[in-house]
Amino acid sequence: MPEEKFWDVKSLGEMSPAEWEALCDGCARCCLHKLEDKDTGEVSYTSVACGLLDIHRCRCMSYDDRLQRIPDCMTLTPAVVSECHWLPSTCAYRRILEGKPLAWWHPLISGSSETVHEAGVSLRNKAISEIYVNVEDLEPYIISDDTETDGIVITSEPESSVRAE
Ligand code: SF4
Ligand code: SF4
Repeated sequence: MPEEKFWDVKSLGEMSPAEWEALCDGCARCCLHKLEDKDTGEVSYTSVACGLLDIHRCRCMSYDDRLQRIPDCMTLTPAVVSECHWLPSTCAYRRILEGKPLAWWHPLISGSSETVHEAGVSLRNKAISEIYVNVEDLEPYIISDDTETDGIVITSEPESSVRAE
């Protein structure tokens, strides 16, 4: 009998802390700045990433004390996921909440942390760090986030945002 995978049989609230952490695909798309329309509540993604994000590795450079350093950063919980309608359609937490299977490129499915990058889903070398832009004027950086597919369109890709390996 095939082994049951926790993400297939558990709800978000039933997962252990280790399972919860493993569910993150490492795309870093939630680390992009977003703009909210005050009138409609509509959220637009920008191609500008949090200054603590290592854009090549798609990892937070200060994960343990990120909440002290970046007050806007948040800890995802099942309740937060259910309220965060701005989470990308590819986000594993959102997919599980919506009863969808994990995509082929998710590290838990592929067995490799590289497939999320190979599939073009992550921010790897696509976004620009906020340290290079005026964060008071993010409108020029608004991007089209295709919520129907696993892709993301990021138009701004300056050399200065690319970190060396
Ligand atoms: S969007 Fe979801 S899966 Fe991707 S890094 Fe953020 S929390 Fe993890
Ligand atoms: S503090 Fe870290 S986890 Fe939070 S948005 Fe910035 S890079 Fe992402």
